[in-house]
This record gives sequence, C-alpha cells and structure tokens, in this order.
Amino acid sequence: MRILVTGGAGFIGSHLIDRLMGEGHEVICLDNFYTGHKQNILKWMGNPYFELIRHDITEPIRLEADQIYHLACPASPIHYQYNPVKTIKTNVIGTLHMLGLAKRIKARILLASTSEVYGDPELHPQQEDYWGNVNPIGIRSCYDEGKRVAETLSFDYHRQNNVDIRVARIFNTYGPRMLENDGRVVSNFVVQALQGKALTVYGEGSQTRSFCYVSDLVDGLIRLMNGNHIGPVNLGNPDEYTILELAQTIQAMVNPHLEVQFKPLPQDDPRRRQPDITRARTWLGWEPTIPLKQGLDLTISDFRARLLAEGNDLPTPGTETLATPVVS
Ligand code: NAD
Ligand code: UDP
Repeated sequence: MRILVTGGAGFIGSHLIDRLMGEGHEVICLDNFYTGHKQNILKWMGNPYFELIRHDITEPIRLEADQIYHLACPASPIHYQYNPVKTIKTNVIGTLHMLGLAKRIKARILLASTSEVYGDPELHPQQEDYWGNVNPIGIRSCYDEGKRVAETLSFDYHRQNNVDIRVARIFNTYGPRMLENDGRVVSNFVVQALQGKALTVYGEGSQTRSFCYVSDLVDGLIRLMNGNHIGPVNLGNPDEYTILELAQTIQAMVNPHLEVQFKPLPQDDPRRRQPDITRARTWLGWEPTIPLKQGLDLTISDFRARLLAEGNDLPTPGTETLATPVVS
C-alpha cells in the first residue's frame, strides 16, 4: 500500500514509519519539522519506496495514498503552548484538510487523538464512552479542545461523506527519539538523571499517568488502522504510576544519589490518568507487552548514546550529593 504519515518525522511517526517500511509499504512522510527532525527518518532517505515532503498541514495538499495516519501536531505541553493559535489551526484546519484529502482520494484515515480529550477525568479508569472534563479556556485547551474538534470532524466526515475513519485515543507514550528538550516527564527525568541534575517533580508528584512504550503503541495503531472498528479506541498501558514513583524508578535505575526537586504544578494538570483498554483488547486483540522498567531501560540507553554523541560529559553515578528532597 501507499501510506501517508503526517507528522512522520516526529517521535511516534518515525517509529510508525520504521514499521511500515519494514512491512514493505510505500511511505510518504509529511512534516513541517516543528518538533520533528530529519534525523528520525534519515535511514529511509534515498529509499525508492520512501518520500519526504516538507509541508504544513494548515495548507491544503493533493496526494495519492491508500491510508493516512494523521499524527501531525506537537504533543508536548511546552511545544503546543508555545504558539497555541497555531496548535488549534493544526488540529482543526489541518485535520479538515486531511479529512478532505481522504474523502477525495477514498483513503482510510486514522486520527491520532489523545487521552487529553478526557481532561481532568472524574471517571477512573477512563472508558471511551466518557465525555470528559475539559476546561475550554485554559492553557491546555488549544490541544485538548483542538483534538476534540478533530474527533468531531472525523465523525462528521464519516457520517456525512462516508469517509473511512479510525480514531485512536493515545495515552502517554515514551521511548527512544523523544526530544531532549521535549518537556514531557519521561524525557525530562531521564535527561536530568543522566546529567546528574535534580529530577523536577511538579506539585507533590501524587498525580498519576500510565506510560506506554512506543513499539506497543505503534502496534496498536496498525491494528486499529487495519481492523474493522472505527473507534474511538484507547491505546495506552494500564499500569498507573504517580509521578513521584516514576522519578524514584528512574533515580534508582540511573543514579540513586540524585535529588528530587519539587516545582509548582502547572495549571489544569490532570490529577489521574489510566486507560480502560477493554475495547483495544476485544476489538484489536491488543495489549501492551513492554513493562515500564524494560521500556525505561531502552529509553535511557538511547538518551545516553545521544547525549554522549553530542559531546556531553556525563557524570559517573555516585559523585553527586546525597538525595534530599529540595523544595523550590
Ligand atoms: P511529536 O511532536 O514528536 O510529533 C509531531 C510531529 O508533527 C512533528 O514531527 C512535527 O514537526 C509535526 N507537525 C506539527 N505541526 C505540524 C503541521 N502544522 N504540519 C505538519 N507537521 C506538523 O509528537 P508525538 O509524541 O510523536 O505525537 C504524535 C501524535 O500523537 C500527535 O498528534 C499527538 O497529539 C498524538 N499523541 C501523542 C502522545 C504521546 O504521549 N506521545 C499522547 C497522545 C497523543
Ligand atoms: N511533570 C513533572 N516534571 C517534569 C515534567 C512533567 O512532574 O519535569 C509532570 C506533569 O506536571 C504531569 C506529568 O508529569 O503531571 C506528565 O506530564 P507530561 O507533560 O509528560 O504529559 P501530560 O501532562 O500531557 O500527560
């Protein structure tokens, strides 16, 4: 098949492209390189079955494809909040363009939606029929309300124009190739730990998240795209951890002498998040296989190799001050 991946130079998109190329598909990667990098897809450059197009999806484009994985959108709060109006344009106008394209070329389109559509959830764990608890005017709204409209557009194109949609609600995903300055919690803690710096826990660290390793997530996306259910389907790892537990796990794995530094909790930070994956299990025969420690191990190795390749001098564990929680 010929498969278009929007946001293909980003974290999840590039892992997805690796899988699709490995399966012998022809892949078109479309990206404006806002948070994505050519480095992530470098190994496919020059391959006759791979094409890279620098394009911003807020502008229309005409292409031919059998399937579209629509991932283009910054996912880290610091990046999506840097230019919130652009984030909304990407989610709304960009998704409109991709659905219009899917309609015209009769391609199946999968929207990478998010657990953020549940906002600060009052239902725990979150099931797909829960409508969410979202602040429409907060600093996260450009992303979570943007994705909610993207879902609405997808279902309206489906009902009105028979567009063949799939909607994945992705929960926190981590792994190799996350940006060092990404701002998300796993990459922050891993980079801080490797550099011998204090781990920055926001609030008291009692808020929870459920972390899915990227290869598991990619497997779920491919199963959803090629199955018969349109969704929405939660894709995430149901193992739930407090952020303090995550910090302590990474601390124990990299350097037990590191400090934990408590910082103010950002506005509208969801208190709990855990996917109910009954639909993914029954509809897709999918569930995550990589436990947190194994995934963190792979992620830490990747970050260590990248930091060393950039010429960083990483401290030897044990040479830092003894761990004492510091509040700043
Ligand atoms: P990412 O920031 O690494 O990748 C996003 C990619 O989209 C980047 O390559 C970026 O350059 C590109 N992009 C952004 N705006 C664009 C535009 N206007 N036109 C063209 N390209 C554009 O993020 P990611 O973690 O790989 O996330 C991919 C998708 O999955 C996003 O849609 C995100 O909302 C969704 N998602 C991710 C997570 C997660 O934990 N990683 C969780 C929920 C949902
Ligand atoms: N977080 C933290 N320290 C950091 C970065 C994030 O304690 O250095 C917290 C953040 O406040 C949130 C959780 O970790 O409660 C997950 O944050 P992330 O930005 O990774 O994802 P999201 O909030 O979008 O789920």
